[in-house]
Amino acid sequence: MSAHRPDGETESLLVKAHPGLCDGWGQCHRLAPDVYHLDDEGYIDIHMLEVPPDRAVAAWMGAMACPNGALTVVDVVKRNSGPVSAEGTEPEAVVA
Ligand code: SF4
Repeated sequence: MSAHRPDGETESLLVKAHPGLCDGWGQCHRLAPDVYHLDDEGYIDIHMLEVPPDRAVAAWMGAMACPNGALTVVDVVKRNSGPVSAEGTEPEAVVA
């Protein structure tokens, strides 16, 4: 699935972790293992990260699943690189 919308807009998430609140339940990691890395004892080992658009939904679900509120989605970062064609490339200019 493409992370890009036809209008070229992408939305990544800015997530803040609060390691002091983490009790090592691992719910975040189960839902988004490639986003939420845990240390050897099972505790969150990040403080702030920007999650790319293709992982944003999993990251959001992982943050919402934390029973301790140790992960907060603090911002949605929108970028727009302009319209793209169905093939994912910028449409060519039409000369009249
Ligand atoms: S779900 Fe919450 S408490 Fe559990 S490991 Fe992740 S951040 Fe820590």
